[in-house]
Amino acid sequence: MNLFTESNLSPDLLKAIGELGYEQPTEIQKQTIPFILSDARDLIALAATGTGKTAAFSLPILDMIDDSSRKIQLLVLCPTRELCLQITKDIKNYTKYLPHLKTTAVYGGSSISEQIRSLREKPQIIVGTPGRVIDLIGRKALDFSEIHWMVLDEADEMLSMGFKDDLETILSETPAEKQTFLFSATMNKEVERISKNYLTNPHKISVGSINAVKKNIAHEFYVVGYRQKKEALKRLLDANPNQYSIIFCRTRMETQEVADFLMQNSYAADALHGDLSQAQRDTVMKKFRLKNIEILVATDVAARGLDVDSLTHVIHFSLPDDPEVFVHRSGRTGRAGKDGISMALLKPEETRKLKQIKAQTKIEITEKKIPTGEEIIKAQVGGVFEKLFTEHDDIFEFDNNLIPDLSAFSKEELVHQLLQFQLKDLATFYKDRNDLQEMRLSKDSDNPSSRRERGRDRDRGRDRDRDGGRDRDRRSGDRKRKSNENMTRFFFNLGKRDSLKKVDMLDIINKATAKSKKRADIGDIEILDKFTFFEIDKNYKQEILNNLPSMKFKGKDMRAEVANKD
Ligand code: AMP
Repeated sequence: MNLFTESNLSPDLLKAIGELGYEQPTEIQKQTIPFILSDARDLIALAATGTGKTAAFSLPILDMIDDSSRKIQLLVLCPTRELCLQITKDIKNYTKYLPHLKTTAVYGGSSISEQIRSLREKPQIIVGTPGRVIDLIGRKALDFSEIHWMVLDEADEMLSMGFKDDLETILSETPAEKQTFLFSATMNKEVERISKNYLTNPHKISVGSINAVKKNIAHEFYVVGYRQKKEALKRLLDANPNQYSIIFCRTRMETQEVADFLMQNSYAADALHGDLSQAQRDTVMKKFRLKNIEILVATDVAARGLDVDSLTHVIHFSLPDDPEVFVHRSGRTGRAGKDGISMALLKPEETRKLKQIKAQTKIEITEKKIPTGEEIIKAQVGGVFEKLFTEHDDIFEFDNNLIPDLSAFSKEELVHQLLQFQLKDLATFYKDRNDLQEMRLSKDSDNPSSRRERGRDRDRGRDRDRDGGRDRDRRSGDRKRKSNENMTRFFFNLGKRDSLKKVDMLDIINKATAKSKKRADIGDIEILDKFTFFEIDKNYKQEILNNLPSMKFKGKDMRAEVANKD
């Protein structure tokens, strides 16, 4: 079945989906529609949001449903109110030319009496969230004793949201001879258990090609120190102007923090997570759909119900534990035939997790460097032109007489001036900023080894204080200290003038000696205006001499020489 017209779906359905622009079925639809139309077995389908799964299960059922009966024949259960409304909207669109088919959505956070009223219209299709469905069964407003089909949509999500008992209660209210279709983005133990207990001899379909469907997504990853993550994110946003994206975080707190950071930095961003009230979430989603907000920072669960087709980027601010969730998140972009980019920000210790994701999902993810200020400005210039010619609307009448005499300037000079004007703030921000890769060397305070070293340094300080007078002499400027036999004293070519701090020096030494199994003992570090002296276990002398010259600090070359004893 390469075209919908080759399926056995009724002309009324074909007409409706034709009007929605559906021509070719998606992979999951190709597999599911013929199966449901011809087979009475249960079904497990592994498919994520964005693969077209709503049409995959609903079109064949709508084709078979009896619209002359006023009994409930199809129950679709899904995890969130947003998804519930989305599925209902899709089904209503598909049944545009089947006027006797009625669909009602029942979900929490909304007036139950109104929903009870709409159930009096005797819909044949119910789309609901588990909690509200149970509530309505309890009030005898819903009766599923004669349904033919039951769909568990996003089963993994329903289970991870704690709906296990509710699902089991609802399943026990339905007849044994119904046909059950379980859709899940991931297959975990809980989903397997539910399938084993409630599905009979299910046929299995997997669009393992979730990625194949999504070949139009470029996957990138960036390694940054933990404390640089937000700044790295800012750079990625600045280097990819005109984006419409979702940034995925792991926790509600992280989501809010990242959104606050972006809002403080004047991005059109907001947060979407479970700590917000339903009304707040609705407002945020509405603003995002209308593109009043262009960057949405969200948890996985909160973003589930959001259906937007034109995301340019998905950013993984934190990696998920489950590789399937990574696929699912990334699949939010690259929809409706457009290209998409997925970018993951990784802490150095997360590279192992990424390897696991790569191995399991077979996605190619390319390492990229956080853009430099120069690259960002270039990208912004491109962004200005892109916007200039794609989003251009004549909003006001323009009087050419308002233009002063500019004949002294060439076209290039004028464009240059306008760009300088437009990008002034951003260019000023990045003007004297170090590139993040360099800063990783000096400020990667999340690096456990640098923390350990700093701790050691503090301890050393304490020991010195206990040492009393001898150390005070040293600190009072007497540089002719007794040399320690086991230490080599080095002269280093950078100093305070180069913004070198003790913590930077420790990091540099650690990096230069990183290949050794044992950590080098570091002695005194004296940072002077133009240069620095430091001491290190003499066994590491050669490593310092070999490795330092190939490293850079804030773009500057490094040089170390064994110092004169005095
Ligand atoms: P879903 O995975 O059901 O959330 O669907 C994702 C999006 O794809 C929705 O906006 C659908 O309207 C759209 N869609 C589903 N099937 C097709 C199709 N065969 N052709 C074009 N768009 C589709």
